[in-house]
Amino acid sequence: MTIATYSAHQQDFPAARWRAEFPLLQRSVRGQPLAYLDNAATTQKPQAVIDAEARYYREINANIHRGVHWLSEQATAAHEGARERVRRFLNAREAAEIIFVRGTTEAINLVAQSYGRANLGPGDEVLITGLEHHSNIVPWQMVCAQTGATLKVATLDDTGSVRMDEFRRLLGARTRLVAVAHVSNALGTVNPVREMIDLAHAQGVPVLVDGAQAVAHTPVDVQALDCDFYAFSGHKLYAPTGIGALYGRRALLDAMPPWQGGGDMIRTVSFEGSTWNDLPYKFEAGTPHIAGAIGLGAAIEYLGEVGLEAVAAYEHELLIYGTALLQEIPGLRMIGTAAHKAGILSFVIDGLHAHDIGTVLDTEGVAIRAGHHCAMPVMEHFGVPATARASLAFYNTREDLDRLAQALRRAVEMFVR
Ligand code: PMP
Repeated sequence: MTIATYSAHQQDFPAARWRAEFPLLQRSVRGQPLAYLDNAATTQKPQAVIDAEARYYREINANIHRGVHWLSEQATAAHEGARERVRRFLNAREAAEIIFVRGTTEAINLVAQSYGRANLGPGDEVLITGLEHHSNIVPWQMVCAQTGATLKVATLDDTGSVRMDEFRRLLGARTRLVAVAHVSNALGTVNPVREMIDLAHAQGVPVLVDGAQAVAHTPVDVQALDCDFYAFSGHKLYAPTGIGALYGRRALLDAMPPWQGGGDMIRTVSFEGSTWNDLPYKFEAGTPHIAGAIGLGAAIEYLGEVGLEAVAAYEHELLIYGTALLQEIPGLRMIGTAAHKAGILSFVIDGLHAHDIGTVLDTEGVAIRAGHHCAMPVMEHFGVPATARASLAFYNTREDLDRLAQALRRAVEMFVR
C-alpha cells in the first residue's frame, strides 16, 4: 500500500463521524480525551445499540415463545428478528442454524459437550493451533478428559503464523474435529481458515471456527468458508455483553444431543423421559438474553451501514500506520508479525513490564490491554510473560495511534533511559 492510497482511504472513511455516535468515546479519562485501543477485549457501543436495548425494556419487555399476550408476541418477534439478522450477517442457509449463546466461550463449550461427547472416544483426536484463546483450548481439554480423546496442536512459526506443514501432518485418520481461530486475539494473525477447512473436509473432518476477533473486522460468509461451526461474541461486535451466536450446519446440529436441559428446549416432558424441540430451540434452554439479542441485531444493522468492506480496508491502513510508528520506539519488539494480520498491535519493550506500560498509558488517557490475553501458550511460544496490546476498531483514528506512540516514548524515557 502506498502512502497516497493510504491517505485517500483515510479521507474516504468517515471515522470521526462514526465515532461521534459512541457516547462513551466522548468521555474524558484521567482528564484527557479517551484513546480507546482495547477493542479486542470489548468494543464500545453506538447509540443505536443502546437505544434498541433500552427500547425493548421500555416498550415490549416480556418472556418469549410462551405468552399468548401482545407483549410476548412483540418480544418474540423482535428476538427472532435478531436471529434472522445474524443469519444474514453470516450468510447461513436458515435461521434455525443460528443458536443464541452467551458468547464465543459458551458456543465452543456447547460444541465440545454436545458434538464432542457424542463423537469422541479413546484414540480419537481434536486438532487446534498454537494461537488459540483459552476458550478454544480448555473446552477441548475437558471433553478429551471425559472421552479419552487426545488434543493435538499445530504450532506456530516465529511470525506467529500456524505451521501449515504441521497442520497437514497432524490432520490424520484419527482426527475427529478441527477447531481454529479465524483471527488471533493475542497476535492479530489471520488464519488461512478456508484452506484449513478444505484440508479437513478432504479427510471428512468437520471444522469449528472461533470468529470472536473476526466478525467485527471482515465480512464472514459461512457458506463460502464451508465451515461446520462458527462462533462469535456480540460484545466484540459493538453489541451488548452476554450475547453471542453459534452457527452450525443443520445436518450436524440435528444429530447432536442437547447439552443443557430446561424450558424451551423440550417438546414433551414426562417423568419417564423427554423429547427435544426443533432447532435452534433444542440448544436454547431457559429464558435467553432477549434484550441482548435485540441489541446484537441492532449492532449488525449498524455495522451494515458502516460497511464491513470499508472497515476492513480502513483498519488495515491504521494497522500499517501504527506498526510503522511503534517500530520507531527504542527497545520495542512486535510480537506477531504474520504476513496476514488484522488490527492488533502486540508488543514488548526492553526493560519495561507490559503491565507498567499499560499503567503509564492509562495516565495519559490511552486504554490498551496488558497481560497474557487468555493465550498463555502464545506467550510461552514467544518466551515472554505478557505483552502490551493495542487493538483497533473503525472509530479509531491516526491521532489515537499518535497518542499511543507519544505516551510510549515518554514511558521509555522515564523508566528505561
Ligand atoms: N476467542 C477469541 C479469539 C477471543 O479473542 C475471545 C475473547 N477475548 C474469546 C474466544 C472468548 O470470547 P468471550 O469471552 O466473549 O466468550
